[in-house]
Amino acid sequence: MFWERQIEKVPRKELQRLQLSRVKRTLRQAAKSPFYGKLFKKIKFTVEKLRRLDDLRNLPLTTKEDLRKEFPYGFVALPMEKVVRVHSSSGTTGRATAVFHTAKDLEGWANLVARCMYMAGVRKNDVFQNMTGYGLFTGGLGFQYGGERLGVLTIPAGSGNSKRQIALMKEFGTTVIHIIPSYALHLIKVFEETGTDPKKDTKLRIALIGAEPHSEATRQRIEEMYGISAFNSYGLSEMNGPGVAFECPQKDGMHFWEDDFLVEIVDPQTGQILPDGEEGELVFTTLNREAMPLIRYRSKDLATIFPEPCRCGRTHRRMSRIKGRSDDMFILKGVNIFPLQIDTVLMNIPEVGTNYVTVLEREDFDDRMIVRVEVRPEFFQGDLRQLSNLQRRITESLKSEILITPKVELVEPDSLPKSEGKAVRVIDKREM
Ligand code: ADP
Ligand code: ZN
Repeated sequence: MFWERQIEKVPRKELQRLQLSRVKRTLRQAAKSPFYGKLFKKIKFTVEKLRRLDDLRNLPLTTKEDLRKEFPYGFVALPMEKVVRVHSSSGTTGRATAVFHTAKDLEGWANLVARCMYMAGVRKNDVFQNMTGYGLFTGGLGFQYGGERLGVLTIPAGSGNSKRQIALMKEFGTTVIHIIPSYALHLIKVFEETGTDPKKDTKLRIALIGAEPHSEATRQRIEEMYGISAFNSYGLSEMNGPGVAFECPQKDGMHFWEDDFLVEIVDPQTGQILPDGEEGELVFTTLNREAMPLIRYRSKDLATIFPEPCRCGRTHRRMSRIKGRSDDMFILKGVNIFPLQIDTVLMNIPEVGTNYVTVLEREDFDDRMIVRVEVRPEFFQGDLRQLSNLQRRITESLKSEILITPKVELVEPDSLPKSEGKAVRVIDKREM
């Protein structure tokens, strides 16, 4: 098991053979669910028609809307007596979706998360504090079982309660944390308030960060502030949750686990498959799931798959950072903007603090973009008016990235609303 070296470095030809047999098994399983049963009948699809992996592209894409329409049980492919767990998306972009698991599904998921953790360097003698919400959100139980599978002491700290988190770290000698990046940035302020220095007063060495888009600059800030190494973790509840793609020590893209998921990248407008190297929407097919197999599921997440193999020797392909969801993009004065672009600019400016928000407003038929930015405490002498230079610099940097001039408002450290879950970085008041 320790860890699945063989499968992680399996030659691609062999991996593809494995994928083909698993896709066939998955299609047979899926046909037992009400949704796919009906669909396959309607399009006259039978598994025998699938000869090569490429034939999968003849099947339609499954969407979040399909999941919502069939809520809750329309995708379940087994008698309910075999189903032992349900999880749900956080509902960031509308009504939540439900995903069901058998005991074997949960085993498989725990193995994947353990594989990711091991790859990032987590070992049995670490102390792992899982700082995301437990419950229907997958980050809690997903990493709990993953950590336990790896054999590491796993503290189910949950989200929020910042002072207690810091106390737990000190008391138990936490060495590894799983944390949402925006919360990691916020927590550093609480460290300062309590007079604790994470570098000197804790044993932290690794952070697993994910669940929301964040820039390389944000990662570097977290690494510098905590004195740790941070690894990007990607997942979505429809594909279990965490454990779908993860960074290896090269930190040059996240490896998908292609023995468990078949990954395609499509043009978000047309749904046509794109070659590796081109940016598009990630589409996933589960390869091992029993309770709720999903075929060609549209994630809405935009990324690029790297065509070159990784220097680490793993043969599973990698993807770039997630640029955002296709519906995160907003259009202002005809320009398409992704929140990640703003994150990259702001987090690269040292005087910028750890929190910011973008507000979009409409006034007299004219769209306005206001970026409220907390100033870093070290650069704040009590008077924001002294910082007009900084304000100008931020405006210029944003303008050169997004091509329009936003209104930048500097605010005092720790004055913007914070969230313990996924951060709300854009408030669009134009349609309200
Ligand atoms: P919801 O879709 O309601 O937010 P999930 O908890 O299933 O519920 O969230 C999965 C989504 O979170 C992904 O589809 C993606 O948009 C985002 N996400 C997860 N991990 C990352 C990551 N490492 N980088 C960027 N975005 C991420
Ligand atoms: Zn690698």
